[in-house]
Amino acid sequence: MSAPSVAVVGGGAIGSMAAWQLATRGFAVTVYERYWPGHNEGAGGGGTRMFRRVYAEGPAYGPLLDASWRLWRRLERATNTDLLHRTGGLAIGPAHHPVLAGGIDDAERRGIPYELLDADALTDRYPQHTPLDGEIALFDPEAGVLRSNLAIRAALDAAVAHGAELRTGTTVHGVADAPGGRVEVATDTGAERHDHAVVAGGPWARALLPTLPLKTRAIFHTWHFVDDRQLLRPERFPITLRRSGPDLSYGAMSALDGTRVKLAPHADYPREVEDVDTMRRHVRTDWQRRSTALVHALLPGVSPDPVESQIYPESFTPDGHAAVGALDADARVVVLAGFSGHGFKLAPGFGRAAADLVATGASALLPPEVALDRDFRAQVSIRDLVLDSDPA
Ligand SMILES: Cc1cc2nc3c(=O)[nH]c(=O)nc-3n(C[C@H](O)[C@H](O)[C@H](O)COP(=O)(O)OP(=O)(O)OC[C@H]3O[C@@H](n4cnc5c(N)ncnc54)[C@H](O)[C@@H]3O)c2cc1C
Repeated sequence: MSAPSVAVVGGGAIGSMAAWQLATRGFAVTVYERYWPGHNEGAGGGGTRMFRRVYAEGPAYGPLLDASWRLWRRLERATNTDLLHRTGGLAIGPAHHPVLAGGIDDAERRGIPYELLDADALTDRYPQHTPLDGEIALFDPEAGVLRSNLAIRAALDAAVAHGAELRTGTTVHGVADAPGGRVEVATDTGAERHDHAVVAGGPWARALLPTLPLKTRAIFHTWHFVDDRQLLRPERFPITLRRSGPDLSYGAMSALDGTRVKLAPHADYPREVEDVDTMRRHVRTDWQRRSTALVHALLPGVSPDPVESQIYPESFTPDGHAAVGALDADARVVVLAGFSGHGFKLAPGFGRAAADLVATGASALLPPEVALDRDFRAQVSIRDLVLDSDPA
């Protein structure tokens, strides 16, 4: 008997990992990707993403995070590629901020190593940061920087090595029921039938999943040269989430090229994107100036003027948790959407969960927060979300 066939719609961060995990379990996988492996148009663009082991979003994410941690290393071994560069991580802000309080709670409950640094200890160890009155830092020794575009490419390579077929330059226009309990995937070159479909369209997912409350938003990054290359080399510059007030909050990490750091200012003007294909990717000068002001105030050793800036789209749910699950009892269609600014680090875990769902209809890795049938109406302000990068 031939292996059940699975269409993976979207070969980005999540779809590539789902394809890898499904292919290693023996499913006959076909990946439909409108661009090409590791392209820069989607939510994983820009070269790097943060990996945090201490997770303020809550201990229910523990199994997914732990599985992801192991799978990142496995993918590195399988493809002989350096994907997760360990730098450690800092969360800086007042002790009561959810990023710190939630992080400490999570680390305690899951037994994850961490350290608390007061302002003096922070200055001694990490003079790259200027502490403000009343701030502390939570250090996460296992955090690091993921090479995002490369990781997507690596996962697709690993999937292909296990027999997956990759259809690049192929856009899926719909997934529908087909006779015999199968699904039909309509593409711009015709329709094909499979036993299952895994839909992972990222910022484009709204078109395929109109009933889910997804919104696409734009997130911008700026890149800055480092003035002090010794102090800001990747091993000395932990990924940083700073929550020091409305105009003093950002995410920052090394660009891993030895010359630049990447900054994502926390912005209070969330910009919704109607159509990803026509969205404006230009970063306005006043937005870039936010980065300049932040670097001036808080990051000595970094050059305040951006040397590069980019906008990337991401799909958000109203409550900031992803939407993952099977649409029917036989898991013919599995959906992974709405990763809301923090899906990359968890992508291999979500990929494994997708394979679990296809194989058995359930996955022990998934926290209840991501259930498809939850009450999405609990609207949360964008400011309340714990994002690695914040919408512009
Ligand atoms: C600027 C920015 C910074 C971020 N920082 C972090 C971070 O530091 N840490 C972290 O964990 N997370 C971070 N995130 C979130 C994380 O990157 C995303 O959650 C993750 O990349 C989402 O993956 P995805 O597969 O849903 O989307 P994508 O990676 O965009 O993949 C979707 C894929 O589907 C393809 N596709 C879409 N529609 C179709 C179709 N109809 N037919 C065929 N192909 C299709 C697209 O071409 C694309 O390749 C950040 C996000 C952004 C935008």
